[in-house]
Amino acid sequence: MDAVAVKQEDVAALPAGVFAETVTDVQHYTDRLFRFRMTRPESFRFRSGEFVMIGLMVEGKPLFRAYSIASPAWDEELEFFSIKVPDGPLTSHLCDIKVGDTVLMRKKPTGTLVLDALVPGKRLYMFSTGTGIAPFASLIRDPETYEKFEEVILCHTCREVAELKYGFDLVEEIKNHEFLAELVGDKLKHYATVTREDYPFKGRITDLMESGKLYTDLGVPPINPEIDRGMICGSAAMLKDTKELLEKAGLTEGANNKPAEFVIERAFVG
Ligand SMILES: Cc1cc2nc3c(=O)[nH]c(=O)nc-3n(C[C@H](O)[C@H](O)[C@H](O)COP(=O)(O)OP(=O)(O)OC[C@H]3O[C@@H](n4cnc5c(N)ncnc54)[C@H](O)[C@@H]3O)c2cc1C
Repeated sequence: MDAVAVKQEDVAALPAGVFAETVTDVQHYTDRLFRFRMTRPESFRFRSGEFVMIGLMVEGKPLFRAYSIASPAWDEELEFFSIKVPDGPLTSHLCDIKVGDTVLMRKKPTGTLVLDALVPGKRLYMFSTGTGIAPFASLIRDPETYEKFEEVILCHTCREVAELKYGFDLVEEIKNHEFLAELVGDKLKHYATVTREDYPFKGRITDLMESGKLYTDLGVPPINPEIDRGMICGSAAMLKDTKELLEKAGLTEGANNKPAEFVIERAFVG
């Protein structure tokens, strides 16, 4: 059975609370990573940085997984940046989607990586590994981020150089965008590192923070709780290590109902 094809009768049988959207663009970066865009229901509202459940019909049943929305809140389409897990119940099928296919989406977005969960500051650090860049792909394309912060530092660490391409494409898109280019100017800094290949910027972000190389490379002072804010999205281990370093620097963790100096979200479970 073709897991990707969502048939008309499947759509009719979907429970209330599920949208069926059409894929408009697919781009594969490596054998582990791809991005796709799809139509956005007019009634679907979200805050940049939130996640939503998306899915496909797999063996006759809807199968959903959490996905950060990578497009900003103002975009008329929705974008997602995805892993391909070879035996993954969802992504082993999702990686085959093509323009015109249907992707299911639950109606309620949520999440902690939102500007409202941070107290005011001057510099916003976004720390990500792998697909953890997805919520930041949304936030770096949202004008509100630059209204609230004077400087935005997007840190992205992957194993291999080819896995950084989505991040570089995003920054290029902003530079060439008709209204974001001027609004963002030189406020956005992109700090990309790899752990398993030779590259000018090498190593885990936590090691680069501890050694101080991150700050030297960027030409900024070490993290200061008075002015710096943070958002973290990566594996459980990366979250734990980065959170510890931010806490050591004097920042406290916030949430939607209790804004503070940094917020975290897992990029995946496992
Ligand atoms: C809040 C939240 C937001 C998420 N946002 C995204 C997103 O924007 N893009 C995305 O690709 N995934 C995201 N995920 C993970 C996603 O929900 C699925 O786990 C992923 O799509 C794989 O689904 P699967 O059914 O193929 O395999 P699963 O059974 O879900 O996962 C199998 C195993 O693959 C590994 N894995 C899963 N996801 C990833 C990943 N993203 N990177 C590295 N290893 C992974 C884990 O070890 C996991 O145990 C998010 C998860 C959470 C909790």
